[in-house]
Parts: sequence; structure tokens; C-alpha cells
Amino acid sequence: MALQLRPNCEYCDKDLPPRSMEARICSYECTFCADCAENKLHNVCPNCGGGFVSRPIRPAREWRPGVSIEKQPPSAKRVQLKYGLEDVAAHSAQIRNIPPEDR
Ligand SMILES: [Zn+2]
Ligand SMILES: [Zn+2]
Repeated sequence: MALQLRPNCEYCDKDLPPRSMEARICSYECTFCADCAENKLHNVCPNCGGGFVSRPIRPAREWRPGVSIEKQPPSAKRVQLKYGLEDVAAHSAQIRNIPPEDR
């Protein structure tokens, strides 16, 4: 199963197209921009408590048959935070000092 490649940052709603180098994802593919992941969330996913990694680029060009942005298009469904900003900040503060591998 391919990544959904969600179109925006859940926190600030910035566009994160498939070739963006700023997209960060957790293991459930909760998606944020690099600035929010680092400076707002401190590497704590507000939905699951896990950490983030850089979302890889999906090639626009079909370098191998059947695999490209055209063949597996990105999701168009924008996702918004489902928790309030104060809740998210408290959640991050509780978890941020625990290394991701110990969460
Ligand atoms: Zn953002
Ligand atoms: Zn998550």
C-alpha cells in the first residue's frame, strides 16, 4: 500500500505537495510541515504521540512501469487537527522529552 501523500499540514494548513521537501509524517501518516513538526509539536505527533520523519518524494516521472504520481495520485482530502491548540501543546510537553523509541 502506498502512502496517501496528504495535501496539507494538519496544524497550519500549509500546502504540502508530493514533491515538497517540508512534509513530515508519523507512522500513521499524520502529516505536518517541518516548521510545525519542529517548533510547534517538538517531534510529538498530536494524534498518536510518535515522532516524525521526512516524507519521501514520489517521482513525477514513471522511472519504472506503473509507479509515479500519475499512477498513484496523492490524496486530495485536507486534514485538520482534531484537538485544540492548548490540548496539543500539553500533549507535546508531556511526551517531548521521551525519545521516540521509548514512547
Ligand atoms: Zn504547518
Ligand atoms: Zn501520528
